Amino acid sequence: PRRPKADFIQSPRRIYTRSIPSHLEQPQAKEVAKVLEFPVASMLPPEAFTVLRKSFDARKSQKEPKFVYTVELDVEKLLNLEPRTWDFISRLEPKIGLIEHTPRERVVGDLVSIIHDNKKINHDGFAGENGHCSSLSSYRFPVTKKTKVAVVGSGPAGLFATLVLEEFGVDVTLIERGQPVEKRGGDIGALVVRKILQSESNFCFGEGGAGTWSDGKLVTRIGRNSGSVLSVMKTLVRFGAPESILIDGKPHLGTDRLIPLLRNFRQHLQDLGVNIRFGTRVDDLIVENGHVVGLNVSDSSGRLQFSSEKLGFDAVVLAVGHSARDVYQMLLSHNMELIPKDFAVGLRVEHPQELINIIQYSKLANEVRNGRGKIPVADYKVVEYVQGDGNNVPFTSQRSCYSFCMCPGGQVVVTSINPSELCINGMSFSRRASKWANAALAVTVSPKDFNALNFHGPLAGVEFQREFEQRAATMGGGNFVVPVQTVKDFMNNKLSATTIPSSSYRLGVKAANLHELFPIHITEALQHSISTFDQELPGFISNDALLHGVETRTSSPVQIPRNPDTFESTSLRGLYPVGEGAGYAGGIVSAAVDGMHAGFALAKRLDLYEDDI
Ligand code: FAD
Repeated sequence: PRRPKADFIQSPRRIYTRSIPSHLEQPQAKEVAKVLEFPVASMLPPEAFTVLRKSFDARKSQKEPKFVYTVELDVEKLLNLEPRTWDFISRLEPKIGLIEHTPRERVVGDLVSIIHDNKKINHDGFAGENGHCSSLSSYRFPVTKKTKVAVVGSGPAGLFATLVLEEFGVDVTLIERGQPVEKRGGDIGALVVRKILQSESNFCFGEGGAGTWSDGKLVTRIGRNSGSVLSVMKTLVRFGAPESILIDGKPHLGTDRLIPLLRNFRQHLQDLGVNIRFGTRVDDLIVENGHVVGLNVSDSSGRLQFSSEKLGFDAVVLAVGHSARDVYQMLLSHNMELIPKDFAVGLRVEHPQELINIIQYSKLANEVRNGRGKIPVADYKVVEYVQGDGNNVPFTSQRSCYSFCMCPGGQVVVTSINPSELCINGMSFSRRASKWANAALAVTVSPKDFNALNFHGPLAGVEFQREFEQRAATMGGGNFVVPVQTVKDFMNNKLSATTIPSSSYRLGVKAANLHELFPIHITEALQHSISTFDQELPGFISNDALLHGVETRTSSPVQIPRNPDTFESTSLRGLYPVGEGAGYAGGIVSAAVDGMHAGFALAKRLDLYEDDI
């Protein structure tokens, strides 16, 4: 009989990972056995396999949509079978006895447990990539004089940096210009219902950062199974996210789940001793001999006991997101190096969700049942590569046009922080039950595009964004009214009739010719790509599909150079630029991971532990 060899048995291992198609919401042992070619399904103990990932596959190449599970079969657990059963199985299917295997990473916990466990075991390690959380080999506690660090911004990057640093015993002050979620919710309500914009408490600014009133998608392109991403996901679960985010192929939370999660996160930080200052805006850095030694802050709420204050710190983590344009300007005043970078601009398209369900699922669309059915509300992801030069413009590089931040069952929202600049994005609640599906259709742009419009220098990309935001505000006629055009009319370069399809956008829409918004090569790239998307998703070009202008803040237009190991700014000592605004992340999860890595890097710098980062 082919029993696995001893050394094979001893090391913990991932044994066999396969995708299991299923029409059921839970994979059955017999389906797993079939795909694994396990000889007798009834002998496969259910505890031998673990579901690692669950997704719904509605690709057109499939005969019909189905769930796909990635399961892991653990031979060790099979070894619990009676020897006779094992022998019988091995004879029937020798491959099982010699199953391919890869070493399994040790289970990665949430950040709180990781740091606590390491405080206890001191010399042990834990799994993770990049080394940041892979081996806190020599943990040094307690610190005699507490180091004082300011974290500016309570978005995912700032929150995770704060969590790591405070768990290491650093004295952290978290400074946020916006309001806690309870108050921020009221301010967003006033914007959406009464068009009253609070410039410091809105869809971009406030507790949780830009991703709080969002779809809460937790998909990321930085390696879903990496130790760092898993630690972030498990930390979110610790603070109240459902465990399903750990296995869902496309995990998402929705605004209604993010809000209580953020409250729990805040409570934990406060219990640890973090001083959280909402309604406090950082206006300037205090710099001495090329080193940041403090911050000038002011009351951004108009309700605090101070108007401005100077605060001293040993280091500052700057996690301000990419809408804090005043901060970029302030950094330039300190002669810091800022580099313009590529990003993407475009329009947000909205379809009836039912149409997207039908396009993706055909007859099964009925099973969606407004987010309550067995199968998920349908989404899509499309991309097309286009030559950048269109017909008229002297660019030769290739661009891509892609769907971005798709919100099934969601709504289009205004993300302006200033009424003269109009920009939009999408959000949803956890059930994704609204009758609309929206997504950005964005075209990549580079510094060449900025220069072509006569925008130069480090903030050329910011000026480029602002240009289209101002044009959109003018085209809408002001007061946050968004210029719109049906996809069909956009394709035909024709103004939409006054009876335009309904939109989820609550602040009003106005028919306009969106060809007047962007330079011709961007418009042509959008037109060309939309016609390709229609081939992939027949019905995408429809009278019921409405394009909204303008989507400009897909990612940061600027990068703040930093040392890749220490995360410290290359132009100013003591400053740690992190997250999306610094140009190192694009989304909730990657921003959180960047903040977490920065926290570990700074803790190492402060000599709180030794590690081979
Ligand atoms: P941010 O989240 O932008 O946080 C920066 C924080 O810094 C803000 O709270 C701000 O108030 C604060 N701040 C700025 N300047 C100062 C200052 N001078 N003083 C004090 N505080 C300051 N991503 C996803 O992955 N999934 C999604 O579904 C998703 N949906 C989105 C929907 C919307 C409507 C928006 C706007 C964004 C969405 N994103 C989504 C993008 C995501 O929110 C960002 O990528 C992410 O929040 C970036 O995190 P961050 O911590 O780097 O910055």
